[in-house]
Amino acid sequence: MAYIILNKNNFFNNLDIIANRTKSVDKIALVLKDNAYGHGLLEMASMASEYGIKRAVVQTSKEADAIESFFDYILVLADIPQNANSKTRYTINDLKSIYKFPSGAKVELKVDTGMHRNGIDMSELEEAFLQIKRAGLILEAVFTHHRSADELTSEWFWQKENFKRVKERAKVLANKFGFGELRFHSCNSASLFRESNFDEDMARVGIAAYGCLELPKSFDMQSFKPVLSLFAKKISQREIKAKQRIGYGGDGEVLKDCVVSNYDFGYGDGFLRVCAQNGYKTPQGIELVGRISMDNSSFLSENDEILVFDDARVAAKYAKTISYEILTSLKAEIKREIV
Ligand SMILES: *Cc1c(COP(=O)(O)O)cnc(C)c1O
Repeated sequence: MAYIILNKNNFFNNLDIIANRTKSVDKIALVLKDNAYGHGLLEMASMASEYGIKRAVVQTSKEADAIESFFDYILVLADIPQNANSKTRYTINDLKSIYKFPSGAKVELKVDTGMHRNGIDMSELEEAFLQIKRAGLILEAVFTHHRSADELTSEWFWQKENFKRVKERAKVLANKFGFGELRFHSCNSASLFRESNFDEDMARVGIAAYGCLELPKSFDMQSFKPVLSLFAKKISQREIKAKQRIGYGGDGEVLKDCVVSNYDFGYGDGFLRVCAQNGYKTPQGIELVGRISMDNSSFLSENDEILVFDDARVAAKYAKTISYEILTSLKAEIKREIV
């Protein structure tokens, strides 16, 4: 089967850059949702913990339970648990959901400052505090998520202004309703690297830690290094005559006699079929021929093994998508090895 190599030095290099920006390792909340962006949840959690990261962000309670031993604090973005776990904080995304959380749960309130996806409306802040109090929940933080931190527009600025107003109001309300001092956070990777003087309580960092952050050229981009590379193994090899056609539909016609090998990585493992339509080449310049099948893809190569990609940003260009989709498409069953 194809396999994934995770480069610990590269991961730690990225964490160094991030910690420099947040001014403290303790302020990094590493986003590990979706199998750690396809890298492997337990592999990334254990390396992060070895580095000294204490906070993690995931989507579900199940993910939080799986990594509980590695962190002091875990934020669940969208799940309502049966029983609250003491290390885990649960996100309130909507006023209507407040009474569904078990009493005594630690919660964080998400506020919509312009993305209009999850979070309460800014005008509902007082109502949310009141209901959280009545439901017997412990409110620890108020946070938001920007919709276009990675684009060179004014949008990021007005969303920041909105969040500034939310913070001021929330501090007053925390006093009024007798909650302790609140934490505030709004930055994902792109936002953190646009911010010249980060001063919040933590940043929720995903793609930068995996080394695939992309920002417009004018931003001061640091030397992030991709953590994940993907290799595939040869299943078989054959000599192909000029004009013979390879694979389903015979799409892959070769112009001269050549050797083609078939490797064990296909769309069933997470190799997006659309890559074949855009002339996919490996980092070593080895050409893909014909369509990508479920568990197979053919390349103009005799090598026993090929590096399929070592930078998801490059692979994403072939699929006209983003590195996040390339990475999270990689199936959990693929073997991961840390070097
Ligand atoms: C996924 C996610 C992040 C991480 O975003 P990156 O762009 O990968 O840094 C941060 N916050 C929230 C709410 C998210 O859903």
